[in-house]
Amino acid sequence: MDSGDHGVDCSDTIGRIYHFLDGELTEERRQEIQRHLDECPPCVEAYDFEVELRQVVANRCRDRVPPTLIDRVRSALMEEERRRGSGLVPGAG
Ligand SMILES: [Zn+2]
Repeated sequence: MDSGDHGVDCSDTIGRIYHFLDGELTEERRQEIQRHLDECPPCVEAYDFEVELRQVVANRCRDRVPPTLIDRVRSALMEEERRRGSGLVPGAG
């Protein structure tokens, strides 16, 4: 039993990683994300992946980044997160 009343959820975090990395979030939001990352390894993985992806893309083509590539990878990442989330549902009532 866990009621996500504090900070952000996994989906929130994943959805905001981009903004987090882009520095488009407020200090408050960033701290919330950071906190969640501190206590949620799966999200850290996603975060690390995002960071790495950016670096790879930046290295490979500094001039132009095909949005389709990033979009594809991002979608795959989200899909995996969802699967993990809904796949592990303990039937504890
Ligand atoms: Zn999480």
